[in-house]
Amino acid sequence: MSVTVRVPAKVNVQLGVGGLRADGFHDLANVFFAVALGDEVTAADGEPGTGITLTCSGPDADAVPLDDGNLAARAARLLAAHHGLAEPDLRLHIAKAIPVAGGMAGGSADGAAALVACDALWELRTPVEVLLELAAELGSDVPFALLGGVALGRGRGEILEALPVGGTFHWVFAVADGGLSTPAVFRECDRLREEAGTGSSDTDVATPDADPGLLAALAEGDAAALAGALANDLQPAALSLRPALADTLRAGTEAGAIGALVSGSGPTCAFLAKDADSAAAVAEALRRSGTCRAAHATYGPVPGAEVLGAEVFGG
Ligand code: ATP
Repeated sequence: MSVTVRVPAKVNVQLGVGGLRADGFHDLANVFFAVALGDEVTAADGEPGTGITLTCSGPDADAVPLDDGNLAARAARLLAAHHGLAEPDLRLHIAKAIPVAGGMAGGSADGAAALVACDALWELRTPVEVLLELAAELGSDVPFALLGGVALGRGRGEILEALPVGGTFHWVFAVADGGLSTPAVFRECDRLREEAGTGSSDTDVATPDADPGLLAALAEGDAAALAGALANDLQPAALSLRPALADTLRAGTEAGAIGALVSGSGPTCAFLAKDADSAAAVAEALRRSGTCRAAHATYGPVPGAEVLGAEVFGG
């Protein structure tokens, strides 16, 4: 028996970053948006005694760790432990389309997909609230990959509130060569704040909040208004670590994108287009520009991790 789950990548249409807390985290006001660019994770029963085995396919497959640290494997283990099951004999395959270490929460997406796939494979029927709790244990971006759509994340991003959206938005993602480490980008954000003299602790920086104009643009399905409200407090840090991203942002804007920003901690750049035709033209122009490794036109919002199908092998 095998179960395949499709899971979306995310872009943060707003990423407000508060000051550094004593526990090492930052308070975030994070508006997550799920896009149709996604991974597929297949879970299947393994031979007895083999434990969890992982395989990965796709252009970035070499960059995906296939050890115990992979979020899909950790998710399977966590779900089994939650239900008091023994170490599972499980084959997990990740068909990877989300850029690795690209600021689109690809690893978190695979963790969410593995939770849903194993829950179906093992016929556990875990309530969604429990899956969300397990997801939050795996990482602060994992619950959103379960939920999908558009949501406001608070705290470290794990406290989620679904938001209303009045239409489909068209996006282009420009994939850079190599990734950026999310902790390194947060450290650079703190360093830039210190350098600017504003201070970087949570007593220096106001607690971020969702932008009402951005929420209204989403609710009305107004792409031009959303384009004007896109905001990412990590963008200066990502640009400081990877100055060439400014060329990518410029290339997409010159090609007709109505909004442009670094996706999360980067280095993937996200562009909002006025419609699907414009998105296709922006993607083509970005490919020709030589400022990125690949460019994908896509859309959203889309649902979170969902079962695509189950297959029974051997009768
Ligand atoms: P985020 O936007 O949540 O900060 P990201 O999109 O920048 O994350 P990921 O693709 O999630 O980055 O990968 C970050 C690191 O997580 C990788 O460098 C890799 O070592 C590790 N990782 C663990 N599991 C996976 C997975 N299934 N796919 C990709 N990376 C994984």
